[in-house]
Amino acid sequence: MASISSTAGSAVLRRDFFGSALESHRKNEVSLRRSVIRASKYSPKLPNRRLRVAVIGGGPAGGAAAETLAKGGVETVLIERKLDNCKPCGGAIPLCMVGEFGLPLDIIDRRVTKMKMISPSNVAVDIGRTLKPNEYIGMVRREVLDAYLRERAAESGAEVINGLFLQLDMPEGPNQQYKIHYSHYEGGALGGQRKTMEVDAVIGADGANSRVAKSIDAGDYEYAIAFQERVKIQDDKMVYYEERAEMYVGDDVSPDFYGWVFPKCDHVAVGTGTVTHKGQIKQFQAATRLRAKDKIEGGKIIRVEAHPIPEHPRPRRSSGRVALVGDAAGYVTKCSGEGIYFAAKSGRMCAEAIVEGSENGTRMIDESDLKKYLEKFDRMYWPTYKVLDILQKVFYRSNPAREAFVEMCADEYVQKMTFDSYLYKKVVPGNPWMISS
Ligand SMILES: Cc1cc2nc3c(=O)[nH]c(=O)nc-3n(C[C@H](O)[C@H](O)[C@H](O)COP(=O)(O)OP(=O)(O)OC[C@H]3O[C@@H](n4cnc5c(N)ncnc54)[C@H](O)[C@@H]3O)c2cc1C
Repeated sequence: MASISSTAGSAVLRRDFFGSALESHRKNEVSLRRSVIRASKYSPKLPNRRLRVAVIGGGPAGGAAAETLAKGGVETVLIERKLDNCKPCGGAIPLCMVGEFGLPLDIIDRRVTKMKMISPSNVAVDIGRTLKPNEYIGMVRREVLDAYLRERAAESGAEVINGLFLQLDMPEGPNQQYKIHYSHYEGGALGGQRKTMEVDAVIGADGANSRVAKSIDAGDYEYAIAFQERVKIQDDKMVYYEERAEMYVGDDVSPDFYGWVFPKCDHVAVGTGTVTHKGQIKQFQAATRLRAKDKIEGGKIIRVEAHPIPEHPRPRRSSGRVALVGDAAGYVTKCSGEGIYFAAKSGRMCAEAIVEGSENGTRMIDESDLKKYLEKFDRMYWPTYKVLDILQKVFYRSNPAREAFVEMCADEYVQKMTFDSYLYKKVVPGNPWMISS
């Protein structure tokens, strides 16, 4: 990999970077083709009942999983501890998610067509210049998106329970059921009522602090801490953010990530994150606010929120008939910190593997069915994760590197590739380094 000593070498750097990313992509393709998963053709038929699956957590991963299971003929229970949960999140989603998940346009607060990347010395580059008239980055509030996906799961036949998952007891023998312990918040009862439920399989969609992951000894991951303030700014200032979002890079806003201002219906979300200097997160947040000062000055902070963001997948993502999806599994990309689409996608793919393996809920499944979901997910997205991992290591390591990065973003070729890869998550002509979905 070329070193970044000055911004003048960015064209050479670009060629070197794409070359090495493509090479590692090819190596991965070869190693993935070698792993073969056995089908669960010997699993028994279920007499007089359907396969019963519990989905723990009702974020994008859980909502998408529960909808797919219920539509596929599986008896589905979704347990969510807080039905009005406002997940701390920037809420940026790629265009392909709107189509793939049939999201109605009225749940999307803003359609961003102008994305400003701002360097440590405040050089601003508009990286949305190659977008076509119908293309945009969606901005959602998570309390709206998550509720919508859960409602759709319920309409498809899933039972949604307002409860806190506590513990998982393993089955006593092959094809026996798991026992779930949970607090049921029926009628708003304080502390809830302790209950148990027997299920054939479990999808852990309970986010970065997943209790399901702990139950199966899935192991830990490195994580970033992300901090965000929702700031209500005056209407005349909001006009600037109508179709615009901002990303700030620099040692001041984060040593290893970026600061952002993302627009919502009537406010902006201002935030930043870091893995390496978690204790200084409030200082980075203050610096992000300072950089955006002219545009958000006089605004009122209406909500302060923080949450971990996983840095890489857990060492183990399935065990027996239990599988992890979304943040519980660790599916957030480095560099961009994107996790909503991958959460919904992994939830859906895991559920599809269960529906297929159980022949629409009529057979027991086994571990090999869940491994199929993992194999498919890795094959589709591993290169995306790898490329963004490399990008972060190269460009977020010093202010000169960040200046070079922002300069590179001015290049229309780079913009087109970046946006096509982000918006559609697939190969486009002239883009050799993303895998097709
Ligand atoms: C500040 C911040 C900004 C971000 N910005 C973006 C962005 O702009 N775009 C993007 O794509 N990604 C962003 N991310 C990442 C994104 O938020 C996550 O990747 C995404 O929320 C993962 O979805 P999920 O369904 O896997 O988990 P979550 O959204 O965390 O959902 C888990 C659900 O499980 C429930 N739950 C947890 N434990 C239990 C339990 N024991 N019992 C019952 N229910 C339980 C929770 O209440 C929650 O509803 C951001 C993250 C942070 C922290």
